[in-house]
Amino acid sequence: MKIDVLTLFPEMFVALDSSLMGKAKEKGLFELNCHNIRNYSIDKHKKCDDTPFGGGAGMVMTPQPIHDCINAVDPKHKAVRIYMSPRGKRLNQQIVKELSQNSDLLILCGHYEGVDQRVIALDIDMEISVGDYVLSGGELPAMTLIDAVLRYVPNVLGNSQSTVDESFSSDLLEYPQYTRPQEFCRLSVPDVLVSGNHQNIEQWRREQSIEITRRVRPDLLEDK
Ligand code: SAH
Repeated sequence: MKIDVLTLFPEMFVALDSSLMGKAKEKGLFELNCHNIRNYSIDKHKKCDDTPFGGGAGMVMTPQPIHDCINAVDPKHKAVRIYMSPRGKRLNQQIVKELSQNSDLLILCGHYEGVDQRVIALDIDMEISVGDYVLSGGELPAMTLIDAVLRYVPNVLGNSQSTVDESFSSDLLEYPQYTRPQEFCRLSVPDVLVSGNHQNIEQWRREQSIEITRRVRPDLLEDK
């Protein structure tokens, strides 16, 4: 998979150089290119923002550098072009799974009050939000999306079973996990998990999943 990110702050993406994503990148399982929108500004001071027409607080990112950057990076419109935005469709595991089927993604990160609407009209295929709250920039949302999508790319996760069992993969939250030691601060691991009876373990995990989902996210059960 190839991912192009358009941002005013490419240095933020070092966060993806660590842990699982860092290893996957090293192994060449995906290609991540961060493009600095500022390099595409034709303004003599490389300006990329201006005051909003109609007044109001803050600055808006100007369309020219973004439009030129998108069309330089993806001239044939091969990529699914995404703008990270609180006005977008709220990200969920289903959208993550669908996006992971594409070979090319382009992700635009806004800043300040966001981007000029004409860039969205001209160049963007979909807007995605990471939740009902406002962040100062699209970089953390973009990294969230990239991490979630790459987990579906073959061999990125050590154990490919991981995306099958975990939370949301079956509209349920995951069951509680335990590891060594068997007793910790006088709390023991549930007996069933050390029983060796795989059928009972599976049943216990399913019951726990349903119970936890009912308690903290009943909406996931209602949606079914
Ligand atoms: N004025 C805008 C918010 C701009 S926040 C509004 O009220 O809708 C600045 C940038 O941060 C946005 O352009 C977007 O790229 C990013 N951003 C902020 N919150 C986000 C969220 N919940 N999901 C995805 N991107 C977000």
